[in-house]
Amino acid sequence: MRRLLLVSALSAALCGPAAAQAPDVETLATKVDAKVQAWRRDIHQHPELGNREVRTSKLVADHLRALGFEDVRTGIATTGVTAVLRGGKPGPRIAVRADMDALPVTERSGLPFESKVTSTFRGETVGVMHACGHDAHTGILMGVAEALASMKAELPGEILFIFQPAEEGPPDGEEGGAEEMLKQGIFDRFKPEAVFGLHVFSTLNAGTVGWRSGPAMAASDRFNIVVKGRQTHGSRPWGGVDPIVAAADLIGSAQTIVSRRQNISKLPVVVTFGAIKGGIRYNIIPDSVELVGTIRTFDEGMRQAVFADLKNVATHVAAAHGATVEANVPDTKGNPVTVNHPALTARMVPSLEKAVGAANVRELDLNMGAEDFSYYAREVPGFFFFVGATPRGQDAIKAPSNHSPEFFLDEEALKVGTRAMLQVVLDYQNDA
Ligand SMILES: [Zn+2]
Ligand SMILES: [Zn+2]
Repeated sequence: MRRLLLVSALSAALCGPAAAQAPDVETLATKVDAKVQAWRRDIHQHPELGNREVRTSKLVADHLRALGFEDVRTGIATTGVTAVLRGGKPGPRIAVRADMDALPVTERSGLPFESKVTSTFRGETVGVMHACGHDAHTGILMGVAEALASMKAELPGEILFIFQPAEEGPPDGEEGGAEEMLKQGIFDRFKPEAVFGLHVFSTLNAGTVGWRSGPAMAASDRFNIVVKGRQTHGSRPWGGVDPIVAAADLIGSAQTIVSRRQNISKLPVVVTFGAIKGGIRYNIIPDSVELVGTIRTFDEGMRQAVFADLKNVATHVAAAHGATVEANVPDTKGNPVTVNHPALTARMVPSLEKAVGAANVRELDLNMGAEDFSYYAREVPGFFFFVGATPRGQDAIKAPSNHSPEFFLDEEALKVGTRAMLQVVLDYQNDA
């Protein structure tokens, strides 16, 4: 035994730097590619809605335990999983995150592993589909975990793996997602100095990776405005207060929030009315009209200003018609702006280029969608990048988008995502 130890110590000394050399990303990733594909297909065929990711989180937790990760915790924010990979060398502490939830969408992809799963959403039976590609995110991060565990001895620092539920929002009346993971203290127990995540998108072709520094994805907020009049006969409008005319005026005036009030030379703003509900019969002026919609912003100050403007317009336009309003702006907690830390982004873009080739990496426009990764990136510097999902040669702008029943992920995205994330993590940990 002694002699053996001596021999191995001697050979380590002789090989010196060569033995300590960490394997390259391609070698590491190739070993897990087939597994990532299998996990992704399995998760795709067994999708689970937000806060119901029971099977998925068990798959993840079992895998992390089998890899020998430390402090594997389950049941965070209902079904979240976290675990720590401690490298054999000193180095920084970072976090990497994947989301695990699917959507209430009935799949029409025609894939052999198409989802046939149904569930209940807001009291209705719905199909369930990984229409946003979170199956890919989970599979990729499981692969990254395995690849890094295989070189644990040469890995500097510590990495917190976060597998998060309910990115698309928790069911009504429940808490969930990134904000809840943080509320339950995941960054209190393990404070990373940076956090990384990725998202697959139909708007990019497979083989490509996209990034944006600073504000990258919008803050998304819902609103609900009830215009209250007084019901009367349609032939005698003067006998009541017409909330339909007031609501129409309100919708028109609200267009000036973007066109006249916000400095859109700085960053864009969107105010959209998505539904109008009011009235029952052609000759009855109803009591009230309900307006619902969404607000998208890229700056916290502008976000708060739009809230105030919309409340102000609603209140005063309604008053001009003799009506009143109940303006819930916003009516639920929205997602903040997803901001990529500029210095961290500048540092990591070369890693993306190393992983997939500079010709395949592009700086993207602002994305009007929202992400609850924003909550982590509010706590510590964050870098969230985008991985193309639409097959090469197909027009990515016209391809069925994320959330569509025909959303299609070219599995090349799995390989690209695995390599890009591994490169980002290893370069950060090695200060490369
Ligand atoms: Zn989504
Ligand atoms: Zn998503």
